[in-house]
Amino acid sequence: MNGIDPYQPGESVYECVECNGRVRTDDHMASCDGCGGDVRNIAVPRE
Ligand SMILES: [Zn+2]
Repeated sequence: MNGIDPYQPGESVYECVECNGRVRTDDHMASCDGCGGDVRNIAVPRE
């Protein structure tokens, strides 16, 4: 048995540049749910 890999393919982590909130989602995200600020994708999918 292999160890469980917590990384989910297709999942991204976005960090809000306004409130620094992090949101994990498997969808594209354009703005922060909390404050509506810009978000950036901080998760780099592994090849
Ligand atoms: Zn925010």
